[in-house]
Amino acid sequence: MKQYLISVVVPCYNEQESLPLFYKEICRVAEGMPAVDFEFLLVNDGSKDDTLAIAKQLAETDSRVKYISFSRNFGKEAGLYAGLENAKGDYVAVMDADLQDPPDMLPRMYELLQSGEYDCAATRRVNREGEPPIRSFFARLFYKLINKISNADIVDGARDFRLMTRQMVDAILSMKEYNRFSKGIFGWVGFKTRWLDYVNVERVAGETKWSFWKLLLYSIDGIVAFSTLPLSIAAVMGVLFCLLAFVMVVFVFVRALVWGDPVSGWPSTICIILAVGGIQLFCMGIMGQYLAKMFMEVKHRPIYIVKESNVDRS
Ligand code: UDP
Ligand code: MG
Repeated sequence: MKQYLISVVVPCYNEQESLPLFYKEICRVAEGMPAVDFEFLLVNDGSKDDTLAIAKQLAETDSRVKYISFSRNFGKEAGLYAGLENAKGDYVAVMDADLQDPPDMLPRMYELLQSGEYDCAATRRVNREGEPPIRSFFARLFYKLINKISNADIVDGARDFRLMTRQMVDAILSMKEYNRFSKGIFGWVGFKTRWLDYVNVERVAGETKWSFWKLLLYSIDGIVAFSTLPLSIAAVMGVLFCLLAFVMVVFVFVRALVWGDPVSGWPSTICIILAVGGIQLFCMGIMGQYLAKMFMEVKHRPIYIVKESNVDRS
């Protein structure tokens, strides 16, 4: 029987403290699964610390370790894409380097896919403890919103940590868009996903790269990437205001004819001008968001640039 290969894709950005701990853990898990071969794809996303040196060191002593190092920081999404593109496995796992994605779940995930019933085993955290309440609130709001307005099925609390079949990975790779929002892409490609719950774990070392501001921008990216509803809202708002203006014109006209035209109402006029002007700018901003994304897409820039790697791409 053919020995299956699992590729583990790990995007790493400034993970010099976590990476050795992660490696130790994943090796322990791999030992417990003698029936499968492993390959560890460490994607160094332009780290400013010794992450690359550690990855190279690991690759020297362990032929299962592959590294891809970017020419600069391209973001986690680019790291994921590079990892998936270079993975050779029959199954591909995606996980963080900070051990927030428990490697111990891998055997169970593999078992689920082996049964042939599922194409993907994904994880979802059931609590948001250790997170500021405002952040949790906005996160929940975001998931509710994006599920309503897009056809990318995104589960609240879903992590990127998942194990996928080759078929699903190829589907994801066929989506060549530059603005990558993985949570949406995973849902968009479809296939049968089994969700496994787990309790949130704090990262082992180092600190998170996500500030509230970055998360907010990321959520806007997600909405713009997977829904055009905001554009429709802008258009509908425009129509509503035209109707309102028409009614007002008739009203003012009739009133002037019947009662004459006393000059008053300056404050209310200013209010209306401000409100309408604000809404116009808001709608232009929405259009600008889409235009900006299109601008980046049509340039057809590479999603990442590799500086060095030990992956054999033949
Ligand atoms: N990461 C990356 N590039 C970045 C930011 C993060 O490759 O620009 C990696 C990081 O090294 C980690 C994973 O993405 O393996 C998740 O990052 P982090 O733990 O900061 O996010 P959180 O778990 O807080 O969502
Ligand atoms: Mg983390």
